[in-house]
Amino acid sequence: MLLEHHGKELLRSAGIAVPGHGVASAIAAVGPLVDRFGPRVAVKALVPVGGRGKAGGVVVVDGVEAAEAAAQRLLGAMLGSHRVDQVLIEEAIPIAQELYISVTIDPGSGRPVLLESDQGGIDVESMTDDLTTTVLDVQNRPTPPAPALGQSESESGPAPTSITTRREVANAVISAFFQYEATLIEINPLVVAADGRLVALDAKVQLDESARHRRSVPDHWVDGESGTEREQLAAELGLRLIELGGDVAILANGAGLTMATVDAVANAGGRPANFLEIGGDAYTKAIPALELVLSLPGVRSLLVNFCGAFARCDVMTAGVLDAWDALQPTIPVYFSISGTGSDKARQMVRDRLGIEPLPSMQEAVSHAVGSAGLGRRS
Ligand code: GDP
Ligand code: MN
Repeated sequence: MLLEHHGKELLRSAGIAVPGHGVASAIAAVGPLVDRFGPRVAVKALVPVGGRGKAGGVVVVDGVEAAEAAAQRLLGAMLGSHRVDQVLIEEAIPIAQELYISVTIDPGSGRPVLLESDQGGIDVESMTDDLTTTVLDVQNRPTPPAPALGQSESESGPAPTSITTRREVANAVISAFFQYEATLIEINPLVVAADGRLVALDAKVQLDESARHRRSVPDHWVDGESGTEREQLAAELGLRLIELGGDVAILANGAGLTMATVDAVANAGGRPANFLEIGGDAYTKAIPALELVLSLPGVRSLLVNFCGAFARCDVMTAGVLDAWDALQPTIPVYFSISGTGSDKARQMVRDRLGIEPLPSMQEAVSHAVGSAGLGRRS
């Protein structure tokens, strides 16, 4: 995924309004940017992952001091598996309404689709009721060459734009999607500002790896992006996968718990097969997530570790059990489930798989490690 300011430069070149902003990698750079774009600014962790808002990676503050304090807190911190090396200092936009718009490849049909919703700002997974899907016609689509990007420096004022309606924004996103050979362009939120303008407050852009050689974006925008084929596929599905080469597959909710689970497997003498960040969207992403981890070569057991707080264990577990039904894996699976909705979740595991969830994370870990070890010897 492109960093936000690169994604926004792409949107801007497509004629879509974005807030004025600049990049700071040190506190000293914050003040001048607040002077230019503030006093009210959004300070945003510049890392290529979603859900920064929820993770505390986006704060709207007033004035230089508050912006410096926010930058101080973010710089050097970890967000998911990324260290924050830069923050975006961006003109804060007074919001009247948050909308959602994206163009992506539908995983089922392989066709490009336009997704739109009146409820932006939140996870797309929780707005499914409200989501309009339009399959895009790829035939006879004129694709004028994409304007080359990366010409301007890292600081840019608000761009003049002639785009004033949602339809025009949608058309611009669709054109950019084809011109830049993207696999995802998501604006969440696209806001109706207090003054009525439509402004893209966020930009998540994923470019097609296989079109790398004919790209019109600078190489450094996408350097370090390429992972294994599975990791790239995961990224396109909104999942962050890192292959670790071991034999214990891990499904946990949230980056923190997932990292702790990976460590626990290693500490128990096991070999973790993966890190997979499914965030709070465990339910809707359970099937592709399970499919991905089971497709890892050498996987011999699966450890499911859910700890419910805002995310409910019963909802996440239902997702995994549905995925299990759909995929019918044959490897042993061990559950550790605690927190919100765990009683119901544990009962679902008993009812649907006929197995008993383990009473603690430690026990689930040691069973998963032990059974992978048995598989290794046999
Ligand atoms: P994400 O969580 O990684 O998708 O980060 P976003 O860039 O979408 O920011 C998360 C949320 O912060 C948005 O949905 C907005 O509600 C809020 N936000 C971001 N930028 C601004 C801004 O300029 N002004 C205001 N008022 N809110 C903002
Ligand atoms: Mn967003």
